[in-house]
Amino acid sequence: ATPTAVMVGTGIGASQGVLIKGGQALETAHKVNCIVFDKTGTLTEGKPVVVSTRLLRQMVLQEFYELVAAAEINSEHPLAKAVVEYAKKFGEDEENQIWPEAKEFAAITGHGVKAIVRNQEIVVGNKSLMLDQGIAIPAEAEELLAEAEDMAQTGILVSIDGTLTGVIAISDPLKPSARDVISILKSMKVKSIVVTGDNKGTANSIAKQVGIDTVIAEAKPEQKAEKVKELQAEGYIVAMVGDGINDSPALVAADVGMAIGAGTDIAIEAADIVLMKNNLEDVITAIDLSRKTFSRIR
Ligand code: ADP
Ligand code: MG
Repeated sequence: ATPTAVMVGTGIGASQGVLIKGGQALETAHKVNCIVFDKTGTLTEGKPVVVSTRLLRQMVLQEFYELVAAAEINSEHPLAKAVVEYAKKFGEDEENQIWPEAKEFAAITGHGVKAIVRNQEIVVGNKSLMLDQGIAIPAEAEELLAEAEDMAQTGILVSIDGTLTGVIAISDPLKPSARDVISILKSMKVKSIVVTGDNKGTANSIAKQVGIDTVIAEAKPEQKAEKVKELQAEGYIVAMVGDGINDSPALVAADVGMAIGAGTDIAIEAADIVLMKNNLEDVITAIDLSRKTFSRIR
């Protein structure tokens, strides 16, 4: 393609909300034969909502949510936002909720958060975070987690002062187009896989719903990038589609990194192509545009 054709292609992309950062990305996109999708915020809306709360010991739900919200208000994770939003229901003043002070806040990327609230150590996150913190997970909590996962929900564990106290079930609906996009990609001979930090159960049920059969769950950011490199070593030209900080290494490693426009700045910076309208269909728009610009048959 001539430089003019590339400029035209990039311009058409921009007018359709597909921001292509360079000629190289536009050129590589039509060679892609494998796409790695992040789950949360990419295949799903990324606007999760709390659907149920189960306490494992007696405690006032309002107090429970004050502690959890105080810790999660410091996190940018979509799951944290869902928890804080839900916690507002228990406040006296829903609009101007002031949470208790959180000290020593720490975000453990891909796992959860911890903080000291009202002199108690609050840990909120997944199973591996609890295990890392030496917190035992009772059978009842395991069962609640499994139940949530079967329904494609994410179960979040809450520990207070080293004791597992609650399980919050959160549902993040699929993007309406996700299933169609995966099926169109299949017809284009492009293999799709899911790589997520979420647990196996939830990841598998989401993958099943969209029609993807290769799933890598419980992946840390570096492991997402490792998977991309592994696929490249197998000879695939790989695109990565993601929205989070945790996707950045994989976005950089991929032949073409595509960030969801609503994603975090770090992901957008790491990507070669930004899908400004947050539409999953635009993964196909980008590939089509590349095909039209670079195929010799016009
Ligand atoms: P994904 O790859 O699906 O976007 P992440 O890697 O961001 O997921 O997170 C993986 C898992 O870690 C989440 O499914 C959740 O269980 C847990 N987690 C991460 N951050 C938080 C948080 N702020 N609060 C609660 N749980 C969290
Ligand atoms: Mg994500």
